Amino acid sequence: MSDLEQLRAEHEALIQFLYLAPVGLAQADLDGAIVMMNPIAAQLLMPLSHDGSLDNLFTALEGVAPELRHLSSRFDKPSGKICDGLHVHLNAGGTGKKIPQILAITLLKLDGRRMMAVIDDVTLQVRRERQLRQNDAWLNAILTGITDYALVGLDAQGAVTDWNPSIGRVTGFGAEIVGRPYSVFYPRDAMTPERVLDRLHDADKDGWSLDEGTRARADGSSFWGSAMIAPLPDRADGDGRAGEPDGPAYCLILRDITDKREASECRRREAYGDYLTGLANRRAFFEAAEQELARSRFVPRSTAVIVVDADHFKAINDRYGHPGGDAVLQHLAAILAETFREVDTVARIGGEEFAVLLPSTDLARAEMVARRLRGVVASQVVQFDDAGIRYTLSAGVACLEPAEGPDGGIDLLLKRADQALYAAKRAGRNRVMCWRPESTDPAPPGEEGGKNAA
Ligand code: GH3
Ligand code: MG
Ligand code: MG
Repeated sequence: MSDLEQLRAEHEALIQFLYLAPVGLAQADLDGAIVMMNPIAAQLLMPLSHDGSLDNLFTALEGVAPELRHLSSRFDKPSGKICDGLHVHLNAGGTGKKIPQILAITLLKLDGRRMMAVIDDVTLQVRRERQLRQNDAWLNAILTGITDYALVGLDAQGAVTDWNPSIGRVTGFGAEIVGRPYSVFYPRDAMTPERVLDRLHDADKDGWSLDEGTRARADGSSFWGSAMIAPLPDRADGDGRAGEPDGPAYCLILRDITDKREASECRRREAYGDYLTGLANRRAFFEAAEQELARSRFVPRSTAVIVVDADHFKAINDRYGHPGGDAVLQHLAAILAETFREVDTVARIGGEEFAVLLPSTDLARAEMVARRLRGVVASQVVQFDDAGIRYTLSAGVACLEPAEGPDGGIDLLLKRADQALYAAKRAGRNRVMCWRPESTDPAPPGEEGGKNAA
């Protein structure tokens, strides 16, 4: 690594630290216009916003700390502390909210243009010392700031509560998204209604929930983004008066990190990718399945698995050689990747064996997709050297219904799908069979037979 790269890497690490720092940090210009803030700052300041936007620090704090603007304009040194741990009392006096919350605000003038607010919830005095005194190194790292973020308020169900300009800046969406679930920022097949709730539940449990991946803009284009969801400390618990919409319960911070995609994808591929096909590997499959089943404990839904095994694959290897076999596996992997949704996990779990995890999917739907897949594969020819290779697959489909609970886990689900696959092989291959509770030996679904590809 060159010195410059090293410096950049360190800088990035510091920015990440800022982003995840356990204290609210907001950088603003000397008029209070917010240039960037981290999730905790957003979380702490959001309840002070009247219109869902957080554009100006002084405006946001006007109602609770009107002296800040004054202190700042009177501060005439080139840099230094404008105020140190100023205590600001929120929700005092008849707003109907229950717990009076105290924020400690430290305002630092960084230079002739910038200042930094360090905002700490001292209500519970948790780790106060550590949170108040941040070292200079990472305050300096903020100087170039993160500007490409959108701040979104979400209600208890994950619907967007307000529109503000930062949303428009990053995603191009307008006020029409108010009331729609935050999955509007994800590609259409990357979210399920249950997954929308999962992330909120994770945020409640862990303090925040962070994920990274493809995000959607209003014009249909996409970008690589991170999305952090954090619960708001003083949210309305859905007990708002009838007819009145609930205020925000979470804040979502959406960042465009397209420039970091290569590095993070690379890391992911190394740990979770299959070298031959580029699909997820076994480990990725089991981790995704365990996470999905654990989440389905809280937001019940059915989960389906399809296992797919190439028929007579040994014969393909024997006839065309191992590279010919590899070409078939890559071909199959490409069709699999095309067939399933982004929210599905498509993995190679063995030599010529693949498994697909389908969140929020019942047996009938999984069976339908598996049949379509079988038909597509049976109708295609893989070009390898001068040969055209035809091949077929067999598939076993199984489902865990919400009533059963996730207890049997992925092992039970895979075992069922394997039994169905085995039955499909025994019945002559090139077919899809489903595991059904009434029979340990699944019945043939009828129409399969191979010749007439759908
Ligand atoms: P069935 O229809 O019952 O599934 O028969 P099959 O021949 O497909 O199954 P079998 O398990 O007998 O053979 C699987 C073959 O797949 C044997 C193994 O050499 C081959 N294989 C496993 N991994 C790879 C791989 O990465 N590349 C290639 N080309 N072949 C592989
Ligand atoms: Mg096979
Ligand atoms: Mg096999």
